[in-house]
Amino acid sequence: MPVPDYNIKTTVAGKRIVQYRCSSCRDMLENALAKAGSKDRCPGCGAEHTVPGASEFAAERAKRAMDEARRGAEEQRRQAEHAATVARETHVREAKALRDAEQVKLREEVGKREREDARWRSGFGLGVFGWLLWVLAFFMLIAASAMDVTAAGSEVLNIGLLNARSNLFVCTGAVFIVGAVFLVGGFVCERIGRLLRQVAEASRR
Ligand SMILES: [Zn+2]
Repeated sequence: MPVPDYNIKTTVAGKRIVQYRCSSCRDMLENALAKAGSKDRCPGCGAEHTVPGASEFAAERAKRAMDEARRGAEEQRRQAEHAATVARETHVREAKALRDAEQVKLREEVGKREREDARWRSGFGLGVFGWLLWVLAFFMLIAASAMDVTAAGSEVLNIGLLNARSNLFVCTGAVFIVGAVFLVGGFVCERIGRLLRQVAEASRR
């Protein structure tokens, strides 16, 4: 027998129940909502009836299933987002490592170039030093020949005052020309070295 009046509620313990009156003796009966749709018998008068609330129970069950599906989808979305974040962080880390490696390489290259520059500079300095030695040697030579000229009675070493003077001019000119060759040579060598290095670097890339 169908029961027209019923009441669905949640107990303090959180259990869903359905309350209804016996259609025969009007006693208040109570069942778990999960029993809705099944047959039951009134403990008072023994009348048999179907526990009401089947449609509500079905609706609640459908809602629960839907909530669970939504939670599942949400969890999936969260996991995908987490994976994307991890991938992004990994990418950033890798990019940083790459940048760091490039920085190290760049620093090494700069250091190498500086060392090479220093080498060329020291080569240039050596050229200047050579020139100074050259100048000193020539002036000493000239001074020696001038002294020889003033030494009386020296036949072998006497090259003549006039000759010594003209020698002085020629030698001084030679000193400066040779010195200039040293300087320009050193400068040109440094430039050529730099150029060759640049060409080598360009071909390495
Ligand atoms: Zn009854």
